[in-house]
Amino acid sequence: MGPKRAEMLAKQLDIRSYYDLLYYFPFRYVDKSKIHRICDIEGEMPYIQLKGRFLSFTVNGEGARRRLNALFSDGTGTIEVVWFNRVKQIQESYHTGVEYVIFGKPTEFNRHYSISHPEVEPYRPDTPQQGFRGVYTIPEPRRNRSFTSRILQQLVSTLISGLGRIEETLPVYLIERMKLMPIREALVNIHIPETVEKLQRAQFRLKFEELFYLQLNILKFARNRSMSIAGFRFSRVGESFNRFYREVLPFPLTGAQMREIKEIRADMGSGRQMNRLLQGDVGSGKTLVALMTMLLAVDNGFQACLMAPTEILAGQHYKTISEMTARIGVRVELLTGSTKKRDREVIHEGLVNGDVKILIGTHALIEDTVNFKNLGMAVIDEQHRFGVAQRAKMWRKNVTPPHVLVMTATPIPRTLAMTVYGDLDVSVIDELPPGRKPIQTVLRYDNHRIQVYRFIGEQLKQGRQAYVVYPLIQESEKLDLRNLEEGYEVISEVFPQYRVCMVHGKMKPEEKDYQMKIFAEGKAQIMVATTVIEVGVNVPNASVMLIENAERFGLSQLHQLRGRVGRGADQAYCILMSNYKIARDTRHRLEVMTQTTDGFVVAEEDLKLRGPGDMEGTQQSGIAFDLRIANVTKDADVMQQAREIAGHILDADPQLTQQPNQMLLRQLQFLYHRQINWSLIS
Ligand code: ADP
Ligand code: MG
Repeated sequence: MGPKRAEMLAKQLDIRSYYDLLYYFPFRYVDKSKIHRICDIEGEMPYIQLKGRFLSFTVNGEGARRRLNALFSDGTGTIEVVWFNRVKQIQESYHTGVEYVIFGKPTEFNRHYSISHPEVEPYRPDTPQQGFRGVYTIPEPRRNRSFTSRILQQLVSTLISGLGRIEETLPVYLIERMKLMPIREALVNIHIPETVEKLQRAQFRLKFEELFYLQLNILKFARNRSMSIAGFRFSRVGESFNRFYREVLPFPLTGAQMREIKEIRADMGSGRQMNRLLQGDVGSGKTLVALMTMLLAVDNGFQACLMAPTEILAGQHYKTISEMTARIGVRVELLTGSTKKRDREVIHEGLVNGDVKILIGTHALIEDTVNFKNLGMAVIDEQHRFGVAQRAKMWRKNVTPPHVLVMTATPIPRTLAMTVYGDLDVSVIDELPPGRKPIQTVLRYDNHRIQVYRFIGEQLKQGRQAYVVYPLIQESEKLDLRNLEEGYEVISEVFPQYRVCMVHGKMKPEEKDYQMKIFAEGKAQIMVATTVIEVGVNVPNASVMLIENAERFGLSQLHQLRGRVGRGADQAYCILMSNYKIARDTRHRLEVMTQTTDGFVVAEEDLKLRGPGDMEGTQQSGIAFDLRIANVTKDADVMQQAREIAGHILDADPQLTQQPNQMLLRQLQFLYHRQINWSLIS
C-alpha cells in the first residue's frame, strides 16, 4: 500500500505490520454466498440469508414497547422476526404467502432464535449470490472514502493470499485435547470464512487462545506472589477479640459473618500474606468483620488501620468503632485531611510508639508522613474508590507487608473478578442481618410527581426521614449546583413544615458535617444531596430514597444509593424518577432495579449492559481490557475452561520450563511484555 494509507492505518487503527493487520478481526460477518436453512442455525451466527414465507404477523405491546412479531418458515423450520419501529408501515408492505429472501443476524435467546429488523426482498431466482465476508470497524469519520471496511477487506485478502507459514501459537497437546483449529486455518477463516461452521471453529480457537493466555499470565504471577511473600503469623485469639465477642457485640453474628471471620483467621495464621477481597451487599455487616479482624491483629501485638474513601465515611467508622472498643480499652484514632495539626502530631506520636492500636481515616493515612510502629493489618473499605497505586502504598507501611483486606459493596461478577483480581482470595457475605425487608423500588415519571411527594409526606408524618438525590454531571459543576439548589427550594416549598438540609461535594467540610449531623440526629427530616452520600451514610430512620434523573446513573451506583435506606427493620422505599422519554435500554436498566434488590444480579446486569470497560472498579484496576475477540461476559464459560486448563498446566510445571510449555512462556512474553502486572497488588 502507499505511504498515505499506511500512515492512516497506523494512526487510526494502530496497524503497523502484517501481524497487526492479521489480528485486526472483523466485528461482524455477512454471508450472502448462499441461502441458509433454518434447521441449520446453530451457535453464534453471522448475518445470513433465508428464503421462505411469513406465516403470521402480530402486533404486541404498547407505546414505546410496541413491536411487530412475525413467524417466518422455509419448510425446514420456523424463526421469529421482530420489528421495533415502523410497525404499521412494515405490516402493510409484507404479506403472508409471498416468497421472500430475508437477510439478518439470528440471535439466540432462551434456545430460541430470532432476527430483528432484517432486510426483506421478494425472492428472485436470478439474483446473483455474493460472498461471505467480514465487516471491519472503521474509525470516525466513517464518510472518509479512502478508508472503508471494503478497503480493509481487500488488504486482508491480499495478505492472506500471499500468506506463508505461520507458526503455531499453542502447544500441540492443547490443540489435540481441545480439538482446536490450527492457527493458520483459524486466521484465514476469521477473515474470509469458508463456511459458517469453520467460522465458528475459528472464533472458538481464537477466543480460547486469548483467554487462555490472559489467565495463564494472571495465575502465573499470582502464584509466584503467594509463594514468595511471607506474612505475619497471627496465631492467637486474645483478650480484645474475646472480650469484644462476649461483652460488646450487640447482636449475634450472621452465619456469613462468622464464616468470613473464620476464613480470615485461617489466612492470617498461615504464615503467608493475606490478600483478600470481601464482597458483601450494602448493609451486610462488613464493618464488623473488619473490626474483629483488626482486633485479632491487636491481640497479636500489631496495629491495624482502616481506610475509607470519604471523610464522612471515615468519620462514621470512627464513631461506631471507637464506641465499641472504648469498653475493651483499645485506643482508636481518626486521621483525615482536616485533622488539625496539633491533633495530627499527637496521633503520629501514638502510632510510632504503638499506643494507637487502630487508625481509621481517609487516604491521609497512607501519606509518607504517617509511620506505624508495627502495622500488621490494613482494611480498605469501598476499594473501588481507590486507585491501585494508593492500595499499593499500604504494602509499604511495614517491612513485611501487612495483611490486606479490601471490602466492596459493589459486587463484581465472578468472571470479572477472576480477571480483575487475578488470584486474590475472594469471599462473599451472602446474607443480610435478620429482619431486613427488601427495599421496594419503583420507577416514576414527572407526571407522577404529585403522588410521589404525597407518598413522601406520609412517611415524614410517621416520623421517618427521606433523601432526595441529584446526579452529578461533571461537565458543569455550576449547573449541577444550580440543579441541586433549585431542587432544595422546591422541596422546601412542598414540605414547609419540615426542615430540609443539603449536602454536596463542594461544601466546606465543617458545613457538610453540620448538615449531615442534623440529619443523622433527626433534626432535619429531608436531605437533598448529590452522590456524596453514596457510600456509607448510615441513618436507619430514613425510609425513602428519591433519585432524580435516575436515567443518568449507572446500575451499581443506583444500587449503592438505594442501600442508604432500609438499614433498619422497617419497610423502606426507593423511587427512581426519570424523564418519560428515555431509550429502550435505559428503561430496561431502570426496570432491573425495580425487579431485584440483589447486588449480584444488579452487577451482572450492569456488566451485560455496559461491558466490562465501564464497570466501576475496572478502570482503576489497571487491567486493560483490550481483548481482540473474546468477551468477558458472553464468553464466561470459555474463560472458565481456559482458567482451569491454565491452572492444571501451572500445577504440573509452575515455571513453564518443560519442553512443550516453553512456547507458552515465549508467547506470554510476546503478548504481555508491555504490561505492568497489576494483579500482583490487591
Ligand atoms: P456494610 O456491609 O454495608 O458496610 P455495615 O457494616 O455498615 O454494612 O452494617 C450495616 C448495619 O447492620 C449496621 O447498622 C450494623 O450495626 C448492622 N449489623 C451488622 N451485623 C449485624 C448482625 N449480625 N445482626 C444485626 N445487625 C447487624
Ligand atoms: Mg460499609
